[in-house]
Amino acid sequence: MEDYLPRVEVRVIDDEKGKGLFALRKFNKGDVIFEERPLVCAQFLWNQAYGYLACDYCMRPLETAEENVRRLTGVPDLILPYPECCATKKDEYIECPYCEVCYCGYSCREQAWEQYHQVLCTSSLVGNTKHPLDQLQDAWREMHYPPETASIMLIARMIATVKQAKDKAGAAHLFSQFCHKTRSKNGDISHKLLGKQFQAQVEHLRQLIIKGLQDEDLLPWFTADGFRSLIALVGTNGQGIGTSAFGVWVKNCDSLDLSTEEKEKLNVFIHDLYENIEKETGPFLNNEGSGLYPLQSACNHSCVPNAEATFPYNNFTLVMEAIREIQPGEEIIVCYLDECNRNRSRHSRIKLLRENYLFTCTCPKCESQIGDEDVTSESEAEAEIKNLKTNSGANVFILKDIVIRIIQ
Ligand SMILES: [Zn+2]
Ligand SMILES: [Zn+2]
Ligand SMILES: [Zn+2]
Repeated sequence: MEDYLPRVEVRVIDDEKGKGLFALRKFNKGDVIFEERPLVCAQFLWNQAYGYLACDYCMRPLETAEENVRRLTGVPDLILPYPECCATKKDEYIECPYCEVCYCGYSCREQAWEQYHQVLCTSSLVGNTKHPLDQLQDAWREMHYPPETASIMLIARMIATVKQAKDKAGAAHLFSQFCHKTRSKNGDISHKLLGKQFQAQVEHLRQLIIKGLQDEDLLPWFTADGFRSLIALVGTNGQGIGTSAFGVWVKNCDSLDLSTEEKEKLNVFIHDLYENIEKETGPFLNNEGSGLYPLQSACNHSCVPNAEATFPYNNFTLVMEAIREIQPGEEIIVCYLDECNRNRSRHSRIKLLRENYLFTCTCPKCESQIGDEDVTSESEAEAEIKNLKTNSGANVFILKDIVIRIIQ
């Protein structure tokens, strides 16, 4: 019975903080606070171009674990034992009948078609010119190299979702709930975010979006200001998604009924595989993308969080899990920084949050460390560079490259 009652509630806190998500009941450590699917999500474009195969709708891996690990290690004849631990169901794959886009199953194809793919299907090629939406992807790839943190296709899917909706105003309104993080007391933050150096590129993207997706009912989104706001919106609200066929295989191997000796042998084998992947492909293990999640994006940041976003189904479904006890009425707070960054100095954390999420953290940990020395140590600078290389999965540093260009 209790499961049918709402467990959380979005409330307005104040002008400064905007909205927040609050618990309506008690959660114990490990409890699921909520589960949600994104309004839109998209795989990163370089990730896709490098052959990371994922369902175009839900990001479920389309490679078998063996194919996945063969590609990542560069060993084409590698045999992965215990094939029963692979969760990929290749016989259920289905393509869009008009373009090459592939889905993990019929239901994903139907849902994509119903929501946005009718508008985004690039099969309607006229003559030899590239479809404007393909040009848009080329342009984005030229300005946003790995490690990737955002995709222009998130914006294209937002626009297409509204274009295809029966109730366009209602659909547009769904996305307006994300806007709270793109404003500040000083007005529209996206002006600060996108400096002069970057304006020509943004204008190029905007022209391609207009060419491919112009819609009379959505004119405010296509203006120079409106488009910059959309970029800031996906930049500050996009949640990273990572899926992996090999990762699931490894996890499923845990529950195999093996002798101690077999288990030890398997562990060594898996350890060696990870080492070989590191040598061959570096840190890019996953199918990577980002999505817009209404409840997750209502969660504010703290360097001492009480909840964490997880992806236990190996697709775009986000499960928010309590990482300590949460009382009714308490705010659900997550850490926007990944694990290695959340343990860094107050100065470094605040710098990262300001650059990437446009706010100054006043969590209890940051407040208690106010007197700490205001420096970034050499090892922290190194860690920052490393983070740029390894950052994937949970919390991505959105628009970092854009911000860096502005600072330089
Ligand atoms: Zn799917
Ligand atoms: Zn298609
Ligand atoms: Zn903090």
